[in-house]
Amino acid sequence: MTTDCLFCKIVHREVPTEFLYEDNDFVVFKDIHPAAPVHLLVVPKKHIRSINDLHEEDETIVSGLFMLARDMAKDQGIHTSGYKLLFNVEKGGGQVIFHLHLHLIGGWKR
Ligand code: 5GP
Ligand code: ZN
Repeated sequence: MTTDCLFCKIVHREVPTEFLYEDNDFVVFKDIHPAAPVHLLVVPKKHIRSINDLHEEDETIVSGLFMLARDMAKDQGIHTSGYKLLFNVEKGGGQVIFHLHLHLIGGWKR
């Protein structure tokens, strides 16, 4: 827990947010400013600043993020129509919340 981190506060229910999924290691919730009809954030509970800050011991978090994104895409009914998975890394990469998260974006009618 990093006290000034918004996503840590969300994970610890200090900032009320509806979770579409939760287990011991991850939560999934809707992006507050969706960039598409479906825009979810897949978030490890462990505070990791960005992809740059991953260590060997975090391998199961990385694999878990992708497996959970796959499951959530299916849950949202966008797995066959298609979707994007995105990590923004540091300021130049568009990251504004410095707690690792995977964007799951899709649901376009096209
Ligand atoms: P980043 O640019 O860091 O990869 O993405 C952070 C995302 O978090 C943005 O898409 C932004 O809309 C979303 N976000 C920021 N604050 C909140 C919040 O309080 N609640 C939720 N659900 N999403 C947020
Ligand atoms: Zn955090």
